[in-house]
Amino acid sequence: MNIGHGWDLHRLEPGRKLMLGGVHIPWSSGEAGHSDGDVLLHALIDALLGSCALGDIGYHFPPGDPTWKDAQSSDLLRQVCDLLHRSGFSPCQIDTTVILEAPKLKGYISAIRSSIAELTSLPVEAVSVKAKTAEGFPPVGTGEAVEAHAVVLVEPLEEDQSLYL
Ligand code: MG
Repeated sequence: MNIGHGWDLHRLEPGRKLMLGGVHIPWSSGEAGHSDGDVLLHALIDALLGSCALGDIGYHFPPGDPTWKDAQSSDLLRQVCDLLHRSGFSPCQIDTTVILEAPKLKGYISAIRSSIAELTSLPVEAVSVKAKTAEGFPPVGTGEAVEAHAVVLVEPLEEDQSLYL
C-alpha cells in the first residue's frame, strides 16, 4: 500500500463560488483560482499524485494553460484517478480536513463525502471529511482564505483489473 499527502490554500473573493469536494456551498465569497478553485479537491488530487510520486497538480494542469481556465476540479480529479489506475493503483481510503472560518460546514459534510466517494469510486465509509476553523488567526481565520489537507492510501490493482484499463 502507498500513502499520499496533499495541501492547498486559496484566497476567498466576493462573488466567486465556494466549491468544496465538488459541492457548491452557498456563500458570499468563494475561492479565487484559474479553475473553479475547489481547494479540497486540489488537496486530494495532490495526495493521489503524491501516493505514486506522479508530480503535482501544477505539473499536470498548469495554471497558465487556457485549457484549464474555469475547469471543474471534479473533472481534474477524474483524470488523476485514471492516471493512478494506469500506474496500477487505486485509492482505498481518504481522510481530509478543511479549515474555513465561515460558513460552518456541519450541514454539508455528508454531501461532500458522497461527492468525493462518487468521484473516486469508493464507498462513502472510506471517505472522511473534517472541518475546523482557524480561531480568528489570519489569513484563514480572518475569512481571507480557505485551506485543505488530504491523506490517501492507495493499493495496487489486482492483475485482472489492470488488464481492462
Ligand atoms: Mg489549488
